[in-house]
Amino acid sequence: MPEVLVKNKEEQERIESAYQDMIASIKSGMDEQDSKNIRDAYELAVEAHQEQRRKSGEPYVLHPIAVAKICASEIGLGPTAIAAALLHDVVEDTEVTQAEIEKRFGTRIGKIVDGLTKLDSAYNSESPQAENFKKVLSTLVEDVRVVLVKMADRLHNMRTLGSMPRHKQLKIAAETSYIYAPLAHRLGLYAFKTEFLDLCMKITDPDNYQAIARKLAETKRSREAYIQEFITPLKEKLNSLDVPYHIYGRPKSIYSIWNKIKNKQVPFEEIYDLFAVRIVLDVPPEREKLMCWQVYSIVTDVHTPIPERLKDWITTPKSNGYESLHTTVIGPKGRYVEVQIRTERMDEIAERGFAAHWKYKGIKGQRDVYERWLDNVREILEDPNSDAVEFLGDFRANNLFTEEVFVYTPKGDMKILPSGATALDFAFSIHTDIGYHCTAIKVNNRLVPMGYRLQNGDQVHVYTNSHQKPSEDWLKMVVTGKARAKIRSATKEERRARGEFGKEAIQRKLKHLKVDYEESVEFLLKHFNYSSRVDFFYDIAVDKLSVPDIFRHIKAEGGRLVAVEPVPEAAPVEVESNRPRAPRKVLDKPRLMINGEPAERFEYSFASCCNPVQGDQIFAYLTANAGLKIHRSNCPNAANLMANYGYRVMKADWVSTTNSTFVADLKITGIDDGPGIIERLSHQISSALNLNIRSFSIEGYEGYFEGRISLLVPNVDQLNLAIRSLQNLDHVSTVSRVE
Ligand code: MN
Repeated sequence: MPEVLVKNKEEQERIESAYQDMIASIKSGMDEQDSKNIRDAYELAVEAHQEQRRKSGEPYVLHPIAVAKICASEIGLGPTAIAAALLHDVVEDTEVTQAEIEKRFGTRIGKIVDGLTKLDSAYNSESPQAENFKKVLSTLVEDVRVVLVKMADRLHNMRTLGSMPRHKQLKIAAETSYIYAPLAHRLGLYAFKTEFLDLCMKITDPDNYQAIARKLAETKRSREAYIQEFITPLKEKLNSLDVPYHIYGRPKSIYSIWNKIKNKQVPFEEIYDLFAVRIVLDVPPEREKLMCWQVYSIVTDVHTPIPERLKDWITTPKSNGYESLHTTVIGPKGRYVEVQIRTERMDEIAERGFAAHWKYKGIKGQRDVYERWLDNVREILEDPNSDAVEFLGDFRANNLFTEEVFVYTPKGDMKILPSGATALDFAFSIHTDIGYHCTAIKVNNRLVPMGYRLQNGDQVHVYTNSHQKPSEDWLKMVVTGKARAKIRSATKEERRARGEFGKEAIQRKLKHLKVDYEESVEFLLKHFNYSSRVDFFYDIAVDKLSVPDIFRHIKAEGGRLVAVEPVPEAAPVEVESNRPRAPRKVLDKPRLMINGEPAERFEYSFASCCNPVQGDQIFAYLTANAGLKIHRSNCPNAANLMANYGYRVMKADWVSTTNSTFVADLKITGIDDGPGIIERLSHQISSALNLNIRSFSIEGYEGYFEGRISLLVPNVDQLNLAIRSLQNLDHVSTVSRVE
């Protein structure tokens, strides 16, 4: 590195050693030119970023070096991608141009850097995240390495998010959990997905995250002892197979443990499968399947299996290429233990997914899984009618799916669809035209409704008629992104065509009133709350909104349209303006600060989906017409809002007060021992805790009860105290906040 560039000797050494460390982690072979390119890329990055620092104060160049290292060691990418990773922020952030990169490093590296720059510039703009996601996917179909480097970039940013301001952390975390984690899953980067979700939870739900992390650490020793007890008898038998293998226990992620606690409503102590045991065999491709089943047979000789938990993803790999044999057995002390059996090759694909796929191209199972998926992505991307937000919704829900269903054509060809897919989805998966003209469907020779949910092994026969056309109702009968996009685009065409009549009617009227057409239509859309012209014209055409009706509320005045009576103000809050609004209700003290200003200046309310309580982690969200809503940062809606409309999210903080109360909803379950329980619960709340109950309902079923209590509490500490004290009552098994 040129001496003069880095003034501080210590930093210079730190940078060089980070670089050497990265080089040492490269797994793929490199020729002289590759090594030279990487060294050149490094030197250019050091020079270009020399004036920049990260939020943490570190020299900026440590970031691209770290990203290159993740590419090399955690994804196993080759020299081209590593050089591009070193350069990934150069064009975006410094004086260096794209042309210079291509001149120095050639078009292969140049193209990847260009893709990364384009992705980044998209993120800096205010455009909605859905638009950005579309860009990510367009780059993906062009060169998947761009997205893989981007994943590494995101992972490093997530790992070092600590020095960012809180509201930025929340936005980045939301986008990561909404877009990058599912995409990592789809690309087979399981380790990335798991780490993304853990890092997101650490930000959005720090209390629960830390609590689980602490408990995992406390129980580490006994867990390791248990794993040894489980593994030892297996090892003896596995050794006799005379095949190299390794066997180990793998802890489950904090995020997945938290999900189990929430879904099963059990405390940490009752979650037994905190780990899985993995057996990885080193065998040649032709013996893989046989050996895995042989190991399965050994495992189930030693420990009793639970037959319905057997999953064979070797015979039929998952659509993201995952192969493995999973089973759950009953281990010592009667505890359930998941065992995963696979080969080194399968393990590499499971860890590195798409990136490992080329290496094994041509081997059964790996054949075309990604090509098929990429074709599907391309097809959706090419649809000119798809609106970005709809697109993201469809894509996320159905293309990043986790499970799938296997069905057959009448000729016996297998089709893989996301689990939950319907008979109509099947028709669209065969061909768009088959979908469009589908009139009836038979499954296993029986006529079924088009919305029939496919089951594994179904044989599906689609009947078509060229006069058939899709209608909007069909949207309710499909789940796959492809079918939704196709139906939507066909019905939009239909709406647009019918809407022409409405458009003509309104055009005539506006001409007659002598007002500007464009300006007036915009005015009407806003006034009647339409988001698209197509919908507006369509409603006029089908008489849902008639022209005379419109002009009962609207008149022309001075060459433009105005409302007859001024409608009550429903416009969004002016966030930019510093002019204080008159508070609607006088409070003793501000309870919140929004973007650093007292919340009274804004029109705000608490979201009813998650009912924040003073002390909860929160953020403010600017709604289209209901002012600001305050959500908890672990609200189930939050990730969606922040990922799609990140630019509407604002920072919100509590200002502590003693005289406010908040609504908190609790769910309580337990053993029903007669009418006494209601009395004991309400006594505990009102007398012992001195809290007010807003509503209380309880239902019992066969010796078990489930109750919902709405409480008024001053802050989250009081709420947690209440939860703990209710939990300690006899016959109560769980108490949790409703999310
Ligand atoms: Mn970066």
